[in-house]
Amino acid sequence: MTPPTVDAYYKPQMNDINFPAGVLQPPLYDPKMDDAPNYGNTGATIGHELTHGFDDEGRQFDAHGNLKDWWTAADAKQFDERISCVRNQYAQYTIIDDIKINSSLTSGEDVADLGGTLLAYIAWKHAAANKNLQQVDGLTPDQRFFIGMAQWACGDEHQELKRMRATVDPHSPDQYRINGVVSDLPEFGQAFSCKPGQPMMRVNACRVW
Ligand SMILES: [Zn+2]
Repeated sequence: MTPPTVDAYYKPQMNDINFPAGVLQPPLYDPKMDDAPNYGNTGATIGHELTHGFDDEGRQFDAHGNLKDWWTAADAKQFDERISCVRNQYAQYTIIDDIKINSSLTSGEDVADLGGTLLAYIAWKHAAANKNLQQVDGLTPDQRFFIGMAQWACGDEHQELKRMRATVDPHSPDQYRINGVVSDLPEFGQAFSCKPGQPMMRVNACRVW
């Protein structure tokens, strides 16, 4: 990637995460903003790339980047069950017309989104432990964390592009990369006072990490 590229990646063979300068600029990372939206957005991106090291593909590589099974059988079984939860969840989402997400294609990214957001939330809570955070623009700190997390996904695509990406893109459509994640996080439901049974409070929420 070149410095202005707005993207990030994890490479299992190197076991490293990479962020060009372009992805660390407003409106993603904004040094003029406070921690809540920055952890929600850039923090979740960093967490996403970290979690790729422990998704259904990355977990097959060891710390030195070698393709090697280093997990106990019991852990692998539990992990597969949790991945199935995420696959079942995303398989229900409609991309366009009768086209649903092919979640066996997207589960690595979906797991990275879910684990990465949770990691960022935990890191932010740790960083903010002794701070007296106040509302800003009528929004609580927790609400601003999640709004920051969702901000990159504002946009839309042509129908043709949605159809094409449904078959080849390992990422779920942007709206589900947000709603799929937050509906699995009770922290989001609490932040926005959602009631059990409402769309963003899944009854059988998935959690892999
Ligand atoms: Zn990814």
